[in-house]
Amino acid sequence: MRTTAAIDEPFFSLPLHDIADAALSRALERGAAHADVRCERIRTAQLATRDGRLDGAIDATDLGMSVRVVCDGSWGFASGVDVTPDEAARLAAVAVDLARLSGAIRGKRVELAAEPVYRDARWASDCEINPFDVPDSDKFALLADWSGRLLAAPGINHVYAKVRAAQDDKFYADVYGSTITQQRIRVYPQITAMTVDASNGGAFETMRSLGPPAGRGWEYVHGRGWNWDEELAAMPELLREKVHAPSVVPGTCDLVIDPSNLWLTIHESIGHATELDRVLGHEAAYAGTSFATVDKLGTFRYGSPAMTVTGDRTAPHGLATIGYDDEGVRAGSWDIIRDGILVGYQLDRCMAALMGADRSNGCASADSPHHVALQRMPNVSLQPAVADTSTDDLIAAAGDGLYIAGDNNWSIDMQRYNFQFTAQRVFRIAHGRLAGQVRDVAYQGNTTEFWRSLEAVGGPATYRLFGADMCGKGQPVQVAATSHGCPCALFRNVRVLNVLHEAGR
Ligand SMILES: [Zn+2]
Repeated sequence: MRTTAAIDEPFFSLPLHDIADAALSRALERGAAHADVRCERIRTAQLATRDGRLDGAIDATDLGMSVRVVCDGSWGFASGVDVTPDEAARLAAVAVDLARLSGAIRGKRVELAAEPVYRDARWASDCEINPFDVPDSDKFALLADWSGRLLAAPGINHVYAKVRAAQDDKFYADVYGSTITQQRIRVYPQITAMTVDASNGGAFETMRSLGPPAGRGWEYVHGRGWNWDEELAAMPELLREKVHAPSVVPGTCDLVIDPSNLWLTIHESIGHATELDRVLGHEAAYAGTSFATVDKLGTFRYGSPAMTVTGDRTAPHGLATIGYDDEGVRAGSWDIIRDGILVGYQLDRCMAALMGADRSNGCASADSPHHVALQRMPNVSLQPAVADTSTDDLIAAAGDGLYIAGDNNWSIDMQRYNFQFTAQRVFRIAHGRLAGQVRDVAYQGNTTEFWRSLEAVGGPATYRLFGADMCGKGQPVQVAATSHGCPCALFRNVRVLNVLHEAGR
């Protein structure tokens, strides 16, 4: 387990072990069969500029703790902001009372899959420069510099830039003896250039940077893991070309999809579809269910044999990467789809017990000390080919078609089946080569038709990690960050829409 960054000392100044002892012993005294306590400090910040001028700054800290119990086969939960042993004991008693009360409306008895005990475990994500050690003035100077470079280019009228950062310090303890302290840090810069055509009624077009949110420190903005200078230098010409590009002719064609776009299709059509709680109907009232039902496990052809998808909480710099989940389950990796067949789900300890699995695969996560841990998405990633197939090889194999890069709008139905995605940059492929941008493109399909049309994936050199830092799930809604790695990939005969034509219907 990597522990390259030190966990913040002020977090350790909290009476974490006394809190755990007070909460867990009170819960056991009151008759709980299971109890865990989570103490957490989450700091989030965003600084935004518009045309190089400050447009807003947020810096918020959420500190608190919660006690979760299983008593008489039912869940109980209570949280508070007064981080003391006395309050922890009070919360434990409230949680037990709530469990007894909720027994009247319980369905199945709650069972939890077992997990080894990890005493005094520590884990921290890789971080060289803590973004919260960087003064806001430096963050503003960076965004002003980036914006100035774009505004200096001909044809760029406006630039919107922002940088988000988060630090999550977390202490977990349970009645079996696990005590785990962890720290995660992530940084997400994003910049959008806009050109306005005054002679055409103010029609505008935009181009957004493709650099993803990353589980890294402030070194990320200086080029560690993404070449921001190169991307900023290329954006003006890419935007100019996009403005003058022909509008796409709708129809069916082959697509070569870059990881910067394919990650979101993976997120929506595989990531959310293989959350077991959603499959079992737990999310139905909010964001729907899933077509990938448990009767299909082990036999259902999700996609072509070129498709192997893993879940993991271990990918270096992944947004869902952690040492242990919010139920004290050690992070690992497993297959969700192997050679095109559905073979696994995302599990927490309760879901694992329901499935008869020996262990959870570590997908429990809460976004606040005041929320219960839900089954949340790990890093869900499409694996590259063993062969060293390049992006150019895939473009050559396509012959004629489209090359799709950068995520933009998305839409998917409540069974995670029918979908539509747009992009930041779309290039025509003609005679096996890129032949300039086209615009107004959306690709459309259903999950199995699309993934079964996957003919080939690129090799390890084409594999990149992208992701989202604002994935919503649950009621009350919780926000989570997750990464998706994928290679470049070739899909045959995908429906392509012209979004202008569609809007005019
Ligand atoms: Zn999501």
